[in-house]
Amino acid sequence: MASESAGGLKTLTAAIYPGTFDPITCGHIDIARRAAEIFDRLVVGVYDVPAKKLLFSTEERVQMAARALEDIGNVEVTSFGGLTVDFARKAGAKVIVRGLRALSDFEAEMQLAHFYRRMAPELDVVCLMSSLEYGFLSATMVKEIISLGGQSEGLVPDFVADAIRQEYARTKEASPRR
Ligand code: ADP
Repeated sequence: MASESAGGLKTLTAAIYPGTFDPITCGHIDIARRAAEIFDRLVVGVYDVPAKKLLFSTEERVQMAARALEDIGNVEVTSFGGLTVDFARKAGAKVIVRGLRALSDFEAEMQLAHFYRRMAPELDVVCLMSSLEYGFLSATMVKEIISLGGQSEGLVPDFVADAIRQEYARTKEASPRR
């Protein structure tokens, strides 16, 4: 979407889509795909050290996201640390994309958006509503379902499900229950 500024200069609209992506799910892919239709360039930012326990390393999360999104031409995947607004500025983005699943996401996203606005008034947040089939889907739930032997179809790409199974098998081997 090339937009015309007051001076007649054409600018490209870039956006970032930040998150933990531990691992990327079909819900994330759906949001990235739709955002890539709206913006000229979408940079998916994998947050390197979130304040939560992770199953995958930063490198693994970046690799899985990149593979899941490789067919979309205007999407890049990279890791980042520090403030999301600084990552957006470095990426040359004016927009931060987030996904909203349920009313329960709204409060946290609203709070985040206020903080972003306070730190970087030149940026704006665009929230895309989750598609109906992914409204219940979270990476945490997918990991739990797969670790218990449940079906992963329609939740994550097959290669991501395999990686989750392998990771759980590895950690089980490393610390067997007595
Ligand atoms: P967080 O930033 O809270 O760690 P995630 O990394 O899981 O969240 O996800 C990044 C973004 O994707 C967040 O805006 C989150 O609300 C959104 N998201 C996660 N799962 C879905 C889904 N199933 N449908 C739509 N949006 C989603």
